[in-house]
Amino acid sequence: MELRKPVRVRMAPSPTGDAHVGHARTTLYNYLLARQHGGTFILRIDDTDTKRNVEEAETGVYRGLRWLGLDWDEGPDKGGPHAPYRQSERLPIYHKYVKQLLESGKAYECFCTPEELEAEREAQQEAKVDIKYSGKCRHLTEAEREELRAAGRVPTVRLKVPDKKIGFHDLVRGWIEADGSLIGDFIILKSNGIPVYNFATVIDDHLMQINQVTRGAEHISNTFPQILIYQALGFEIPQFAHFSLMLNEDRSKMSKRKGATFVGQYAEMGYLPEAMINFLAFLGWSPGEEVVDEIMDMDDLLEKFSLEHCSASNAVFDIKKLDWINAKWIRRLEPADLAQRLVPFLQKAGFIGDDYDLDHLTKVASLIQERLPRLDAVRDFHYLFLEPEVPTTEIKKVLKDKDGQAGLQAVIAATESLPWQEAELETAIRQTQAELGWSTKELFMTLRLALCGGKVSPPLFSTMEVIGKERVIRRLQAAAALL
Ligand code: GLU
Repeated sequence: MELRKPVRVRMAPSPTGDAHVGHARTTLYNYLLARQHGGTFILRIDDTDTKRNVEEAETGVYRGLRWLGLDWDEGPDKGGPHAPYRQSERLPIYHKYVKQLLESGKAYECFCTPEELEAEREAQQEAKVDIKYSGKCRHLTEAEREELRAAGRVPTVRLKVPDKKIGFHDLVRGWIEADGSLIGDFIILKSNGIPVYNFATVIDDHLMQINQVTRGAEHISNTFPQILIYQALGFEIPQFAHFSLMLNEDRSKMSKRKGATFVGQYAEMGYLPEAMINFLAFLGWSPGEEVVDEIMDMDDLLEKFSLEHCSASNAVFDIKKLDWINAKWIRRLEPADLAQRLVPFLQKAGFIGDDYDLDHLTKVASLIQERLPRLDAVRDFHYLFLEPEVPTTEIKKVLKDKDGQAGLQAVIAATESLPWQEAELETAIRQTQAELGWSTKELFMTLRLALCGGKVSPPLFSTMEVIGKERVIRRLQAAAALL
């Protein structure tokens, strides 16, 4: 199905302090649609339900989305022709439409107390009938309403829901329908004067001329009451698309994710925004080609993304796949770029301070690039920055009857006046090995343990080059002294 033009899409996050990964995916898909079609992407803050420090919670959402490289055309921080873009600042607008519905008889005031509603629900449960509001207040006379008001009751406003089928063509899922008779007259304005999400959303989507409402599958059930509101107000209904539901690996709901839920947490763990975008793009979409290169950047996505290839099936948030994509992305970076991105992680690990040598860090980056699944894994390479603890027992185990001290001194003597480069080091050390009559394992493992404090490191000679002459000689001397 063709997208209605102009493409005008929106994302309406609640101010949660950071962007939720589900919001990030919806934002990405909306962003791609808008950019592909020369359309407009609006960010609206859905804050009618929040009591928290909204300003901070809102900037946190922006930070998360911007870290991913996603930007919007209109929004609370940008302004635009449909301002204000915070729902909490639009209450008079919502009230105007509630009034219109009351006057046209499409909505009515409901004076039922929470206790009365609860009793009604319980009775329905017991009678095993559908649970929905009975519509009791639909038929109150003006005099009855006056009386209730005088008794101090503050009403909510409910929409009159017709007993008919409500359906829509979902751009991802095809035709979806529900039975209006099961919905019951629902509240559109709470007694505190705040509209419910479904009401505020319809008013805003209409006034902001949104042509495509595209969001997660958890909102399919909201679409039916929203359509009823569009119809009651005589507004044109936008196109809808609902993306796959995101699940945790144990198939529980992503919204109840126990691990990392927010984009910022992934940034802190050392995932690259490019990898995150790449991963999120494939959570509910695939290019629909036989052979798929799953490594895609924003330009690839702009070229390939389409609603036709979005999936209706659930998408599992597979962290192993994210790790795989992230490692690939780390390998794609220019070493100087990787070095820059490693700086905060190195500082956090206490390996460097504010005064660091970016050229040296670039060499470090080249050395470890192939071995980094995430940026925070740089802490495993502490020996490139700090003096390691020498595991003498381990070295003795490797060497058995060999004279470790003599071996290390021979390496020092053979290398200390060399230009400090991988190739030169390799030639000299291999020659020393032959002279000593040691096995490769005996010498290389001893050097690795003495220089890195462990048995695993990137290739020995390039590691030595990066650690630097002075520190290598010092470490070898220290180890020799201990043997
Ligand atoms: N505030 C809703 C959410 O956070 C927005 C839903 C919508 O896009 O209509 O999921």
